[in-house]
Amino acid sequence: MSDHNPSFPNVSHSPLTVEYPVPPFPEQPQPAPGLASKMIPQPDHGENSYRGSGRLAGRKALITGGDSGIGRAVAIAYAREGADVAINYLPEEESDAAEVIALIRAAGRKAVAIPGDITAENFCSQLVHQAAEQLGGLDILVNNAGRQQYAESIRDLTTASFDATFKTNVYALFWITKAALEYLPRGASIINTTSVQAFKPSEILLDYAQTKACIVTFTKSLAQQLGKEGIRVNAVAPGPYWTPLQSSGGQPQEKVKEFGATAPLGRPGQPAEIAPLYVTLASAESSYTSGQVWCSDGGTGTL
Ligand code: NAD
Ligand code: MG
Repeated sequence: MSDHNPSFPNVSHSPLTVEYPVPPFPEQPQPAPGLASKMIPQPDHGENSYRGSGRLAGRKALITGGDSGIGRAVAIAYAREGADVAINYLPEEESDAAEVIALIRAAGRKAVAIPGDITAENFCSQLVHQAAEQLGGLDILVNNAGRQQYAESIRDLTTASFDATFKTNVYALFWITKAALEYLPRGASIINTTSVQAFKPSEILLDYAQTKACIVTFTKSLAQQLGKEGIRVNAVAPGPYWTPLQSSGGQPQEKVKEFGATAPLGRPGQPAEIAPLYVTLASAESSYTSGQVWCSDGGTGTL
């Protein structure tokens, strides 16, 4: 591993420690869904550090929210591990998505871009069919897209906002997963992104935290259904990770400035630091792991 990351000039990658940015960070409001390209400092998605070793050779993956943040880091890692990758994102995120598509192709893998809004059931089934058709099959599904908009009080939380959060984080997961079952063979892996919010909800994330609890329960129940078919279902629970979700209305700017400060490691995680969990859960190496939630929270010990 090189000890210098050119896209992240102040960060050193040595074999034992990676020195990542610590708060305070500048205020940086963006309209939702936000772009990774506008973040200060730039997140590290593993562009210059992730090295594959064939752990997902020949696999075919669909990743929602694959344009930025955790989904982008997973897309890069999967491609470098030998998988062909389809990503979904919102049309306004095209510039972030184009960078990910180029990185997947640079890894020598097939890249498929399918923009569209997953709050519509019709689009969710089209997304899965297009991904499977263009990849020539599907054996990894990463349900990672998410909506997080804070509200100080239940009195400020509108029905429209509550509904959009549940449509994106809960209904879409159901619709996409159901459509994917037409394609997923024995040995396939489904990985859902939940959150530490499912277990330790913040007072300002009343709707979001509930959806993340739904995802934990969905994962555990579905793992029991699909075990008979040889399909594994797991979830990853991130703590504070440096992504556009937070600065585009996920947190007040005051909290963005101090993001990650209360974690024992004293900083937010970078997307590159959680992608390896998604690689391991997708890989056949984890063939007896299903119905689990794996957490990465910088030392808080949430799970
Ligand atoms: P992100 O903003 O980079 O990714 C979220 C993605 O969701 C967006 O890029 C967007 O493409 C997608 N999305 C949102 N609404 C959509 C819609 N209606 N249709 C299609 N796509 C839509 O942020 P991230 O933090 O990498 O988020 C990825 C997952 O991680 C989310 O499920 C989030 O809840 C979860 N998570 C993040 C944190 C964190 O601190 N960043 C912590 C816990 C859990
Ligand atoms: Mg995005």
